[in-house]
Amino acid sequence: MADQAELVGLVTDLVGERAGGWDRAGRIPAEVIRALAAKGVLCPQVPADQGGPGLTAVAAGELTAQLGSLCGSLRSLQTAHGMAAWAVTRLGSREQREVYLPQLTSGALAGVAFSEPQAGSDLAAMTTRIRDEGGMVVVDGHKSWVTGAGYADLLLVFGRYRDGAAVVAVPTGTAGVEIAPVTDPLGCRAAGHGQVTLTGVRLPADHLFGAGQDLGMLVTSTLTYGRLSVAWGCVGILRCCLAAAVRHAQIRHQFGKPLAAHQLVARHLAELFVAEQAATRTCEHASRCWDARTPDFVPAVVVAKHVAARAATRGAATAMQVLASAGATDGHPVARAYRDAKLMEIIEGSSEISQLLLAEHARAVWS
Ligand SMILES: Cc1cc2nc3c(=O)[nH]c(=O)nc-3n(C[C@H](O)[C@H](O)[C@H](O)COP(=O)(O)OP(=O)(O)OC[C@H]3O[C@@H](n4cnc5c(N)ncnc54)[C@H](O)[C@@H]3O)c2cc1C
Repeated sequence: MADQAELVGLVTDLVGERAGGWDRAGRIPAEVIRALAAKGVLCPQVPADQGGPGLTAVAAGELTAQLGSLCGSLRSLQTAHGMAAWAVTRLGSREQREVYLPQLTSGALAGVAFSEPQAGSDLAAMTTRIRDEGGMVVVDGHKSWVTGAGYADLLLVFGRYRDGAAVVAVPTGTAGVEIAPVTDPLGCRAAGHGQVTLTGVRLPADHLFGAGQDLGMLVTSTLTYGRLSVAWGCVGILRCCLAAAVRHAQIRHQFGKPLAAHQLVARHLAELFVAEQAATRTCEHASRCWDARTPDFVPAVVVAKHVAARAATRGAATAMQVLASAGATDGHPVARAYRDAKLMEIIEGSSEISQLLLAEHARAVWS
């Protein structure tokens, strides 16, 4: 398997300047996704003995930031696929890991399905049912906004099972699975978001993961991976915006001097730089906590996601202000970043849900 530098090079070469076109088309060429999936870019922490690159969370984070700086849609696919691989790693038996992880590191694409029409922030309201029937498992339910569903070979579907919860690995070609695209999403427009209906979907019992565990535990463990990935993606958004704003402020002249020489514009550049640095450092800290499995790695990841998502939203707006009309077209990377960034405050636990989790943690630690 390739090391981090090679994977960063692969991402940079494969994406190049093409992300704006993919965003407008609402589609990424399948061969690009397959090429990244086959090299393990989409689940960079899967260990080498399971066929993955085996990167640390810090090294994987920098790879995610590079992908996020180039293409928010591909970074979204990476987050979704990485969450699926992490759920298999965390919840699967040795036999299940040996079946699924080699697929997920050799080109197959996966997504995760938690959200439902009436269960967004409140995932405890989930109604998807998983039941046993004659040695098989049967899944019925509706899932909303599943990232990557339009490309995926496999979805990890979360639902209620017996007295607790479970996850079922559902190949998207299984009878009873219907996927309708989310039309005209605000951002990450080529990430293949789908509304998924599962009607009497029957699969062998060995497709069941984490049987009977607590729903909150199943969801939190998978979301923690996703939050760290989204946080690093936001670092990428900030780097894209910082580079574009600095470049533009140096070459564009108004009132007889470069924009950067006007102090109010210089302040925008300083704010963007501080945002990028603050997000990077909190992500590095959270990733080190993840790698060392420190007792506080879960709240450290929530802090990183919260800080980075808010910084990306504000940073992208600041960069738009510096570029003004020069960035105000659909295909411009900063315009794309501006739309993509807002979604980062909604997914993997919104900013408000992050605040609730962090307030609870603060009370536990500081009271
Ligand atoms: C681009 C995108 C990609 C997504 N990808 C996936 C995916 O791959 N898989 C998947 O399962 N889901 C996915 N989702 C769904 C996503 O997880 C939910 O949108 C998210 O959890 C928020 O739920 P909601 O949109 O229903 O908002 P709601 O839960 O209805 O919340 C609306 C607003 O109310 C606030 N709010 C809710 N409850 C509280 C509270 N107790 N206190 C304070 N404020 C509160 C929220 O923060 C938000 O601001 C995706 C969504 C988007 C937009």
